[in-house]
Amino acid sequence: MKSSAAEDALLVDRIDAILPQTQCGKCGYSGCRPYAVAIANKEADINKCPPGGEEGIRELANLLGIEFKPFGADVVLKPPSVAFIDENLCIGCTLCIQACPVDAISGASKLMHTIIASLCTGCELCVAPCPVDCISMLPLPQAAQSGQSARDKKHAAAKTARERYQLRLERIERDKHEKAERLAQKERAAAKSVAAPEADAQALIQAALERAKAQAAATKPQNTEQLTPAQQAQIAEIEARRAKAHERARPDVTPPKE
Ligand code: SF4
Ligand code: SF4
Ligand code: SF4
Repeated sequence: MKSSAAEDALLVDRIDAILPQTQCGKCGYSGCRPYAVAIANKEADINKCPPGGEEGIRELANLLGIEFKPFGADVVLKPPSVAFIDENLCIGCTLCIQACPVDAISGASKLMHTIIASLCTGCELCVAPCPVDCISMLPLPQAAQSGQSARDKKHAAAKTARERYQLRLERIERDKHEKAERLAQKERAAAKSVAAPEADAQALIQAALERAKAQAAATKPQNTEQLTPAQQAQIAEIEARRAKAHERARPDVTPPKE
């Protein structure tokens, strides 16, 4: 029988809960959740997550009721580690901050950066972008990996990393919206400032035309149909003189000769 969407989502949640949440991409997916989706859809094997170790594969096999499958020969397993910045070399470029999926780096532009070790998942994503090669990965002390409660601790750390990753994604999305809104506001303001002078100019031209029309109407000879031809000829002469005088009074707009 086909499983429902809710059952599928629950299975993805349960697989995701086992994964270490470093978002390192070493499984070939863009993060832990996409890998969990691929496993749930039977599109990916359960042995693709090096940070989860063999214990992680076992947990996945138990959850899914399938056989344990060891890592391939090409997979390099590393001990859990934490990033470290040589603060004397850091130039404050912020590239590591932008790469860290769980906001485990503190710093600001042109200032020294520091790793918040308790939040670092050891994903190594900050190492490659550093232009001065001042980030190194230090293995965690062995004691932190052993003991009865090691698995609980691992899951608790993964839960924190998942939450911090989610918060980061939400913040990035929010920043994107705010930036788009600021840009739209700027464009609206610019369009308004262009439209306003245009509207003002239109109004001025219209008013001038109205005035000219009114003036022409006021000076136009009235009742000309009642006049004799001699009077009409006289008016025509006056009109011609007035037009000439008007012409002379106009400012000279001819461009000066070079
Ligand atoms: S922690 Fe594992 S599942 Fe998550 S991105 Fe890295 S390799 Fe993939
Ligand atoms: S500080 Fe570096 S290694 Fe640690 S979580 Fe951030 S990106 Fe990964
Ligand atoms: S990427 Fe390297 S140089 Fe740039 S801020 Fe981070 S640690 Fe400093």
